Amino acid sequence: MEKLLKKLQEANIGKVLLNEPLKNHTTMKIGGPADLFIEPANIDGVINAINILKEEGVAITPIGRGSNLLVLDGGIEGAVLKLGEGLHHLEIEGTKVRVGGGYSLVSLAATISKKGLSGFEFAGGIPGSVGGAVYMNAGAHGSDISKILDKALVVFHDGSCEWLSNEEMKYSYRTSVLQEERPGIVVEAVFQLKAGDREKIVAEMQRNKDYRRETQPWNYPCAGSIFRNPLPNHAGQLVEKAGLKGFQIGGAKISEMHGNFIVNTGTATAKDVLDLIKYIQKTILEKYGIEMKTEVEIIGKNLAN
Ligand SMILES: Cc1cc2nc3c(=O)[nH]c(=O)nc-3n(C[C@H](O)[C@H](O)[C@H](O)COP(=O)(O)OP(=O)(O)OC[C@H]3O[C@@H](n4cnc5c(N)ncnc54)[C@H](O)[C@@H]3O)c2cc1C
Repeated sequence: MEKLLKKLQEANIGKVLLNEPLKNHTTMKIGGPADLFIEPANIDGVINAINILKEEGVAITPIGRGSNLLVLDGGIEGAVLKLGEGLHHLEIEGTKVRVGGGYSLVSLAATISKKGLSGFEFAGGIPGSVGGAVYMNAGAHGSDISKILDKALVVFHDGSCEWLSNEEMKYSYRTSVLQEERPGIVVEAVFQLKAGDREKIVAEMQRNKDYRRETQPWNYPCAGSIFRNPLPNHAGQLVEKAGLKGFQIGGAKISEMHGNFIVNTGTATAKDVLDLIKYIQKTILEKYGIEMKTEVEIIGKNLAN
């Protein structure tokens, strides 16, 4: 690993660290170390890092702001590629917005709405990165990324780079082509928005944010919705109906405010959260015959016994 570290550092791709604790990079504040942690300085840094890692046969896990992740306590083998400050460029031309994959969705939504551009009102309280949101088709309040994405620049794991159109992203509920069919890293995105009334846009975004504050445990570390809605049912309502709100394993607790949120009360390990997820899945299956699939992505390995 030391040799690889030197090679990456010499290639000048950005920040490279060994054994970086991932709890510092997830909104749940949970997660063991990454063997190698890379924060590329720009798009070339992403491509160069991928080419070097490919040559060395090292597995790559991309992350953004870690807001949809449960990283297990044993951490992640290989390299974690975090898209952050290095990919934080933003250009607004008329109603088109071109933005780096590491840009914060919350900041982008705020900036866009103040310019009187409509389309991002739904995203004001989603604490992910642009790249993570494009990958997940993040959404809320009846809208999602698929409604505004024009195209995304994706670096694939063989080092090639391609613009994918909205159609090519094959969007559906919290799903895109990047998740299984064509894994790749979103380094930039172009959104097509609409000109609108600035006051109205800002007010709608504020309403959405206020609604979150009233219904979600914003003051605890968490990863948003733990389960996908098993449509037509709502995961949070099923958990509440089963009487599970407030139930706790170790430091992981089902939020009293929202049944689909698990919060870290301060000392939770990934094992606590995983045990709680399994407990909820078993209870809902037994009571209502409904399978609960996770929306949060569970990655990494368990601690060796
Ligand atoms: C309080 C709270 C509220 C939330 N509310 C919502 C909501 O209303 N709607 C919603 O949809 N989500 C919500 N989320 C979940 C989360 O914010 C979104 O899923 C977001 O899109 C994840 O982005 P991220 O950068 O944090 O991705 P991460 O959590 O870092 O990664 C998630 C997945 O995306 C992949 N990924 C990350 N960056 C890239 C990239 N650049 N290219 C390719 N793949 C990438 C990772 O490999 C991983 O598979 C919420 C989370 C929290 C904590």
